[in-house]
Amino acid sequence: MGEQIKGPLDLEREILTQQWCTSCGACVGICPYIKVVKDKVVIIEACGITEGKCYDFCPRTSTDLAALEQMVFGKPSPDLALGSYISIEMAQAEDSNVRSAGQYGGVVSALSMFAMATGELSSALLTRPFGKAFMPGRDLVSSSPEVLQCARSNYIASPTLAGMNQALKQGTNKIGVVGTPCQVLALRKMQASSFDSSAEKVGLIIGLFCTWALSYREFSQYLKGKVDLALINRLDIPPPPSNILTLTTETTSIEIPLDEIREFIKPTCRICFDMTAEFADISVGMVEGIDDWNTLIIRTEQGEGLIQEAKKAGVIRTEPLEKARLDHLRDASFQKKKRAVAEIVSRTKDEKDLMYLRLKDEDRKKLQPGA
Ligand SMILES: Cc1cc2nc3c(=O)[nH]c(=O)nc-3n(C[C@H](O)[C@H](O)[C@H](O)COP(=O)(O)OP(=O)(O)OC[C@H]3O[C@@H](n4cnc5c(N)ncnc54)[C@H](O)[C@@H]3O)c2cc1C
Ligand code: SF4
Ligand code: SF4
Repeated sequence: MGEQIKGPLDLEREILTQQWCTSCGACVGICPYIKVVKDKVVIIEACGITEGKCYDFCPRTSTDLAALEQMVFGKPSPDLALGSYISIEMAQAEDSNVRSAGQYGGVVSALSMFAMATGELSSALLTRPFGKAFMPGRDLVSSSPEVLQCARSNYIASPTLAGMNQALKQGTNKIGVVGTPCQVLALRKMQASSFDSSAEKVGLIIGLFCTWALSYREFSQYLKGKVDLALINRLDIPPPPSNILTLTTETTSIEIPLDEIREFIKPTCRICFDMTAEFADISVGMVEGIDDWNTLIIRTEQGEGLIQEAKKAGVIRTEPLEKARLDHLRDASFQKKKRAVAEIVSRTKDEKDLMYLRLKDEDRKKLQPGA
């Protein structure tokens, strides 16, 4: 997918030691030498190869976005801010139990359960948001109760794709994967790679909107003494101007000013170009100010088919998304791209050198500072 495939030593030098690793998990479990130690992805021993899958799959190594657009959508993306899509609506799970178990409208959980019930998926790779000591963990699930155990969001980066690699190695077919935009990008790079990844066996990709994620080690350290980590069952970031993160347990809720935790945001999120998981089949996020609805972006025919079936079966309902909200989403996504490009150019000192991003010239110019 990039210009040049390199090896694990390059991955270590260019990505891991520079803190550009997103903790997506794509390089974990494909060889015996790359592991997750506590919450960090590390190369425990140099294997000596000079061209490796680990480098090729990584969402922070050279990535030709136009080639991925062609592979996934069969055409260039017409929308620089939001990527390719068929429609954008609001949606929520019809079942109020699913809505209350879920982060917002419960659409991700409802669709995961429905796709398994119809046989479109055999299983779903999800992130269990609140694992031991508040650390998110990955779960390959195949039943509705298991899906609901993974509902809600933890804003901590988690190497979920390691679980996918393990499942693919065991020959599992038709897995649905739910992930952040960097995880979706890595998964598409795996599908596009000339290396064998078995990622073509993934049956559906549901992407989550994402502005940033926190590092487990630093954030959990900060929380110690403020709240019992094992009891947290919900995190939320209410829309501006609140500027807080709320943390909820069965008995209490605490508010943390976002300015106090910005230092725990993973450095790589500052160069992240994608807010809405542009390469997913379906992307899902919040609707600012409406707690129990999701914004739903249907991107591929496969995603569209699932949504139509789910509506027909009474699993989800949809409503039009107001134009003002759509404009706001488009602007937020475009601003994230501009911030990423500005951060990258401040490091490379060359507006044509966008590190991992290979962009069309016309798009690159629109995103330059001052454009
Ligand atoms: C790190 C992060 C940042 C986000 N930032 C934004 C944002 O800026 N704007 C916005 O609109 N939405 C954001 N979201 C998405 C939002 O929080 C909801 O996940 C989304 O709207 C789906 O809601 P739902 O009610 O359908 O979720 P649910 O039905 O509750 O499903 C949520 C799914 O999220 C998965 N999940 C939980 N934690 C993680 C994690 N750490 N990594 C990967 N997957 C996870 C679970 O597997 C679960 O299946 C973010 C999510 C994450 C994980
Ligand atoms: S593939 Fe993912 S986990 Fe591995 S180095 Fe790259 S970003 Fe980190
Ligand atoms: S901001 Fe980008 S790099 Fe950071 S977790 Fe979200 S998708 Fe991944």
